[in-house]
Amino acid sequence: MPFVTRRALAALALAPAVLAAPALAQGTFPARLVTMIIPFAAGGPTDTVGRLIAQAMGADLGQPVVVENVGGAGGTLGAQRLANARPDGHTILLHHIGIATIPTLYRRLAYDPINAFEPLGMVTEVPMTLIGRRNIEANSLAELVALIRRRGENLNYANAGIGAASHLCGLLLMKAVDTRMTTVPYRGTGPAMNDLVAGTVDLMCDQTTNTTEQIRAGTVRAFAVTTPERVSALPDLPTATQGGLQGFEVSVWHGLYAPRGTPAPVMERLNRALVVALGNEGVARRFADLGTAPVPAERASPAFHRQFWMADIAKWRPLIQAAGQFAD
Ligand code: ASP
Repeated sequence: MPFVTRRALAALALAPAVLAAPALAQGTFPARLVTMIIPFAAGGPTDTVGRLIAQAMGADLGQPVVVENVGGAGGTLGAQRLANARPDGHTILLHHIGIATIPTLYRRLAYDPINAFEPLGMVTEVPMTLIGRRNIEANSLAELVALIRRRGENLNYANAGIGAASHLCGLLLMKAVDTRMTTVPYRGTGPAMNDLVAGTVDLMCDQTTNTTEQIRAGTVRAFAVTTPERVSALPDLPTATQGGLQGFEVSVWHGLYAPRGTPAPVMERLNRALVVALGNEGVARRFADLGTAPVPAERASPAFHRQFWMADIAKWRPLIQAAGQFAD
């Protein structure tokens, strides 16, 4: 066979493979492991939620979903990592309510805090609890309020940086009590909890996904849950309103994000895996144990998630502006 003909045949033989390449690339997503960025330190509540979801999503996707903790600066370092990631679905982010407060709190960021991300679906809504070191000089919320008013900036309030839920909860608490405390920032409330248990900081407000087991074990003292209703995982804990502190209400929601520009079929595949993970019995059982639950199916859609996120940005903006504490 003449050389030219052989080359022509080879080209013909290759043609279908070349033509099929884009379809194959989409069809085989994920082509390798998926990295789930957690914008807070390991051992904290966002990490706990993320690891449970990552494992169940990985089982559905047929590739591991590996958690990478990128803590610091109230979650903005981890979010920035996603903003700079390739939009191919192999890097996703689990963030919490901070993604709705950061656009107001941070006036100078190296990424666009709204347009850099595509919502994939909400994950869970978690109550917050107000807790103190085990030997703090208050036995009830009323006594704690009196202590805060008396000692003010001599009390250390731990949080995960400006933009964290613990920061937001602290702002609301200090506003409700009308007294400032000294804030001590960490890369996440996992390490902050270690210091609270050790008694080197005085107070913290954090998700039940981090506090339930410590409260049950008596390693910290709990004063209130910040939702309108009590939580079944901690039935003896009063709500802040029951404890006499009106207007101190916040619950934390988590959502999953891909970088803007991620192809629609990849977004759909990731959302399907999220929905499967939220329906996983083991995930639901562990969530219940930690005082939370997977969101109902309709909230796990990208459309609902986007609408909820935008409404939350609008809800928190005036409160943050009134508090006048910005990150820059
Ligand atoms: N719960 C923390 C916060 O936003 C963050 C974390 O460590 O998960 O305050």
